[in-house]
Amino acid sequence: MRLESVSKAYGDGAGAVTALDDVSFEVPPGTFTAVMGPSGSGKSTFLHCLAGLDRPTSGRVYLGETELGGLKESALTAVRRTRIGYVFQAYNLMSALTVKQNVTLVSRLSNSAVDEAWLAEILGRVGMGEHADRYPNQLSGGQQQRVAIARALLTRPDAVLADEPTGALDTRSSQEVLRLFRQIVDETGQTVLMVTHDPVAASYADSVVFLADGRLAGQLPRPTPDQVA
Ligand code: ADP
Ligand code: ADP
Repeated sequence: MRLESVSKAYGDGAGAVTALDDVSFEVPPGTFTAVMGPSGSGKSTFLHCLAGLDRPTSGRVYLGETELGGLKESALTAVRRTRIGYVFQAYNLMSALTVKQNVTLVSRLSNSAVDEAWLAEILGRVGMGEHADRYPNQLSGGQQQRVAIARALLTRPDAVLADEPTGALDTRSSQEVLRLFRQIVDETGQTVLMVTHDPVAASYADSVVFLADGRLAGQLPRPTPDQVA
């Protein structure tokens, strides 16, 4: 997935805010990338544009060969539901639904059949196999976030995008979530992109991209000359 000369402005006239300013970046497929930067530097907008949640003011967003700007709203929604998994800081689980019902909610809403064997495998992978019938308020924060990750993985997406996924978690639960992202990338070859304020969280990633004032301000490790060309 990549951004090509993407700018995003909110509002217009004197009150306009440039959240992203001519950003080009390719998320290396099959790797774990962290996005860091001060508050207001454009990190969430960066993630929202890649996820098709926000349409850029100018520039193009590609998911594989698909240019998201060329899609109608219905096609974009389908791409968002099936090819991208999104994980939020606050888990966003439905409190009246069990773990299993939360993980399968979107596919049930779109009337797709749920593959029970795959569901069991996903719940096992995130360590929630034994808690499938519990409700969110019976789970710790770390467990709720792992349910949210299972939900994101259900459609076998190309990429999982996570916005401050450990922002509400204690050190131990954060570690579980970060190890899980590492495992997803290392074992399935899926791509994980995570926005974080936490340098310890970023240290689990293969590379870190820095944003400042809506612009790409640096990258670690530094790209090699052939990657820049
Ligand atoms: P970060 O995630 O790094 O904190 P954001 O992408 O949320 O940065 O925001 C970048 C800039 O865009 C900020 O100045 C923010 O106030 C502004 N912004 C973000 N979303 C909106 C919005 N929906 N309406 C108006 N301004 C916004
Ligand atoms: P994790 O390893 O995910 O951080 P904890 O060790 O914090 O989990 O929690 C262990 C057990 O305690 C869990 O099985 C969970 O059911 C319960 N638990 C932890 N925190 C809470 C909470 N805030 N509300 C309800 N149950 C909790």
